[in-house]
Amino acid sequence: KGQFDSLNKKKKVGNYLLGKLLGEGAFSKVRNGLHIIAREKVAVKIVPKKAALLREYVKKSVRREAMLLQKLEHPNIVKLYEIMETENSYYLVLEFAEGGEFIKYLSEKKRLSEMETQKYIRQIASAVDHMHISNISHRDLKLENLLLDKDNNIKIIDFGASNVFYGDYSLSTQCGSPVYAAPEMYCNRKYGPAVDVWSMGICMYAMLTGKLPFLPEPPNNFNMLHSLIMRGAQLPDTLSDDCANMITRMLAVDPSIRITVEEILTHSWLQQNQQMPVINR
Ligand code: ADP
Ligand code: MG
Repeated sequence: KGQFDSLNKKKKVGNYLLGKLLGEGAFSKVRNGLHIIAREKVAVKIVPKKAALLREYVKKSVRREAMLLQKLEHPNIVKLYEIMETENSYYLVLEFAEGGEFIKYLSEKKRLSEMETQKYIRQIASAVDHMHISNISHRDLKLENLLLDKDNNIKIIDFGASNVFYGDYSLSTQCGSPVYAAPEMYCNRKYGPAVDVWSMGICMYAMLTGKLPFLPEPPNNFNMLHSLIMRGAQLPDTLSDDCANMITRMLAVDPSIRITVEEILTHSWLQQNQQMPVINR
């Protein structure tokens, strides 16, 4: 209750009372929201229109995010409840992911066991499979865009860079964060949904080791990033063979031989430990 009656007492949008700040992105602020009548807690992504130079880009990306999110219905993808627009801002009313940021959870645990990683990768792969079946590529999968719900299940957010694809090589815009981006995206080549598998491979590596596999110095040094990628990820020798096989195939430089989400879901590594016991933290 307390968080809604302090500073933002009068801030209301539609039927929602706005509460504390949950997070911030480049063009947005995300606040807790409370439906005045239903008392349901939501997250409200607020995108101001006045972002000067980038106005058109922001407008396009918020519309696209809303349009694509509307098409997706999956337990591991955040739901869009409503979209509103005022003179100054756009508002996306989203399902509230109570468990907070996955990256925070991971940094507290340092790294995760294979068994726990299997649970998260299975959920992410299932969600990404749903996107790809719907001809949508997320294009910005990274630890920062993974949240947790109250039961510690994944909710994928941030479809601001997502797009519809037609076949395996129909996209060409470079987007997302370079350290998570597939090499074909940076070679001025047409690319497709396989870029999401690469990004999932980067996330999986980070879950198992607590580190990113390819981290140039400084982070925007593309030449160094490229040569690190060409050298391949250094896998810890403690990983099981099945696990190492899957991650290596997700990080295949050539997208035509990279494992697909469908193949990930039937890979032997994900067949293990299917009934993960509930862990009460
Ligand atoms: P941007 O597109 O500007 O990067 P995001 O959609 O990634 O914005 O959201 C920014 C931050 O807001 C996230 O990293 C997260 O901390 C928080 N956030 C976003 N959506 C939710 C949600 N549904 N539930 C809880 N927190 C959220
Ligand atoms: Mg984001």
